[in-house]
Amino acid sequence: MDFMECSRMSSADLLSQIGQTPIVHLAGLDTGPCDLFVKLESQNPSGSIKDRIAVSMIDAAEREGRLKPGGALVEATAGNTGLALALVAARRGYRLTLVIPDKMSREKIAHVRAMGAEVVLTRSDVGKGHPAYYQDLAERLARDSGAVYIDQFNNPANPRAHETGTGPEIWSQLEGRVDAVVAGVGSGGTLTGLSRFFARVSPGTDIVLADPEGSILAEYTRSGHVGTAGSWLVEGIGEDFVPPVSDLSRVRHAYTISDAESFATARTVLRREGLLVGSSSGTLIAAALRYCRAQTEPKRVVTFVCDSGNKYLSKMYNDTWLNDQGLSDRPSTGDLRDLIA
Ligand code: PMP
Repeated sequence: MDFMECSRMSSADLLSQIGQTPIVHLAGLDTGPCDLFVKLESQNPSGSIKDRIAVSMIDAAEREGRLKPGGALVEATAGNTGLALALVAARRGYRLTLVIPDKMSREKIAHVRAMGAEVVLTRSDVGKGHPAYYQDLAERLARDSGAVYIDQFNNPANPRAHETGTGPEIWSQLEGRVDAVVAGVGSGGTLTGLSRFFARVSPGTDIVLADPEGSILAEYTRSGHVGTAGSWLVEGIGEDFVPPVSDLSRVRHAYTISDAESFATARTVLRREGLLVGSSSGTLIAAALRYCRAQTEPKRVVTFVCDSGNKYLSKMYNDTWLNDQGLSDRPSTGDLRDLIA
């Protein structure tokens, strides 16, 4: 461990440890002529990329006077934003209520509860406009109780955290040579913030969308048409609507990735690279591999490990669960061996 790492670890303020995550080169996969890098957002203090936006959104609410000492927060979240908000709320003395769709992993729900958040579980099988839809329910709860609705889907402090933090970090870690950035969209904060940053410093950098099969976003970026959503098992990315805070106008390529391919990719990354990545990272890396293999020139491509696979040990890393979903450990296109260099 070098001096920089030691000084980072000895800082007294946990929240100042958010960001400055490592980037690693994936060497064991077939990336065609390209170099593929992943930024390990799983190493943030609460375990995901969402720590960045939790601080940014709470800072903004404090600055704007909407959030007072001892105040209450409500958010709609797949889990990781909840964990990140629970971390910041615990350290700054805020009460937190989270509205979570019931398809989300038990591990995440147990974790936010253990961190002191109140959890309201709601249906996963209803869309926007239904009273049980997680975002509509969260907004109503906040309004009725006078709490601050964090609303990552409409909050400009969400993409700003990536425009001013994640983007510049990647740029400096890859020494100003980034040909493509591959991201998924949950709220769209990551992709939007990064597209804004790269449009400024490196307009030739390709912005690539990785979208789960069933989500409407990949088709929307191609045709502007908002189709009917299906369902998918990957957590944290893919939407049945276009999040208002997102700006997808700079997306140059979009890949639709099935659950089977996402899970098989994540499991291959674990076996070949030793990285235990979450389910959305499987989708992102699968899309990045497709982009890499479609290139004829060497390119430097970066994507994310948004959270760790330890949250999904009972799901995509569990053979019985995979079989129960009708998914064996095989990608839907090609053979698993295709992924390996
Ligand atoms: N991966 C995971 C595991 C997530 O929880 C999220 C956020 N829901 C994302 C990716 C997508 O990030 P964003 O909200 O910035 O689009």
